[in-house]
Amino acid sequence: MRLNSKQICEYTGGRVLVNPIDASKLACGVAWDSRAVSPGDLYVALPGENVDGHAFVPQALRAGAVVVLVQEAPDEATCLLAREMGAAVIEVSNTFSAITDLARAWRGYLRGHVVGLTGSTGKTTTKNLVRDVLSASFSVVATQANQNNELGVPKTLLSADPETEVVVVEMGMRGLGQIADLCDFVKPDMGLITNIGESHIELLGSRENIARAKAELIEALPDGYGCAFVNSSDAYTPLVLECSKAIERSVGIWFYDGSARDVDTAADAYATDVELDSEGRPGFVLHVAGDEAVCKLNLRGLHNVQNATAAASVGARLGMDAATIASALASAQPEAGRQHVIQARAGFTIVDDAYNANPDSMRASLAMFSSLAVQGKRVAVLGDMGELGDYAVACHEGIGRAAAASNLDYLVCTGELSAHIARAAREAGMDADTVLETDSIPGVLGELDNLLEPGDAVLVKASHFMGLERVVGGLVN
Ligand code: ATP
Ligand code: MG
Repeated sequence: MRLNSKQICEYTGGRVLVNPIDASKLACGVAWDSRAVSPGDLYVALPGENVDGHAFVPQALRAGAVVVLVQEAPDEATCLLAREMGAAVIEVSNTFSAITDLARAWRGYLRGHVVGLTGSTGKTTTKNLVRDVLSASFSVVATQANQNNELGVPKTLLSADPETEVVVVEMGMRGLGQIADLCDFVKPDMGLITNIGESHIELLGSRENIARAKAELIEALPDGYGCAFVNSSDAYTPLVLECSKAIERSVGIWFYDGSARDVDTAADAYATDVELDSEGRPGFVLHVAGDEAVCKLNLRGLHNVQNATAAASVGARLGMDAATIASALASAQPEAGRQHVIQARAGFTIVDDAYNANPDSMRASLAMFSSLAVQGKRVAVLGDMGELGDYAVACHEGIGRAAAASNLDYLVCTGELSAHIARAAREAGMDADTVLETDSIPGVLGELDNLLEPGDAVLVKASHFMGLERVVGGLVN
């Protein structure tokens, strides 16, 4: 972004507490962590639960912030420091909403496409693939890492320039109305829904409601020239299209073929001849707009063919050819914690998928893990999946059955709900001696210490709150 203190004051409805001599100085970035402030940034003091950003205004000023937004007036010494540093201090009633106000105003300056991206699973992976594909032909700004909430979404918009050709915005959601609220200021002209699964079912009650919540993205697209990208192999896509009246709009459909299902050749992008290599990496023929190219991914698992064709459909809509898209997809790297394969010094392989989990991604991970060529034993460490409400026991049992069918030598379960994974795996025929249960991270590490030998492979996966990245850390170190 490029906004001066006068504009920031106007867009946030703020009151100037310290007016710098050079009020035309532009703030070119935004930060609410004083350690992340670069010279020329706008610093926003957020009152957090544990830490109050107002306490770090002096640090932000010393780091070079040129405008500071507060909701409580700073003390005299801080105001004096701001004056000395030539920075403006603006008071608003609520700094959280001020960030959204700024993003809403800044959106008006952006001339490129804005792609909103949501879905139950694979948002960050697909967002990265869209970014990597489009970067081969356009200037692109995309959500950093997983910053897909009420703060991360405005931050992404504020990171773009008027000249940016495409902004790719990952949008998370935990309830009805949230995507609509985000779209109200993001104003996407393209919308991509990765899939409709079971994550957040606790809050939404049913898959239908999840579909309705995602439909809000498509409803927000402009009539006439908006473009929706949806998964033609997802059973809930018709509902999404119906809810959002997308039929009356321009809809780009993408498709993934890794199964015996008929290929939807009407799709904007689809894959045929899908094969996994011994490392679980898919190769396929990518078809876009009558054009085709052979594509080999660095990412593992069949579900990434789905993510890749989703990204390809956006590239195709923007006029890219199959060869350019395929070569960009081939160079894409996984984000940390998402099926990241690490060779441990002790000679075994770790598949670090500890970042997060829901039933769909657990299944995708187990499928990917069983497709890996492993010399020794195959061990899966699975922990609890959160936010499943009344469906929690059934979902964990389902994963137990999937684990039993996944060619594992050992299953290590950790967490209260994971007891249901263990029980269902035994009931589905896994040898009871190979299903281990422990209730702590040191317990998991202890079991693995006994089990793992050179040539073995271990998959680590659970919802974020389980903190299984500590298992990965313990194995690596
Ligand atoms: P979050 O809700 O935390 O933002 P996300 O939707 O961004 O998650 P990713 O971080 O991209 O999802 O992927 C999380 C995990 O989901 C991956 O590690 C992988 O196991 C699995 N996954 C990714 N894509 C798919 C897919 N298309 N279908 C099923 N599982 C997937
Ligand atoms: Mg994400």
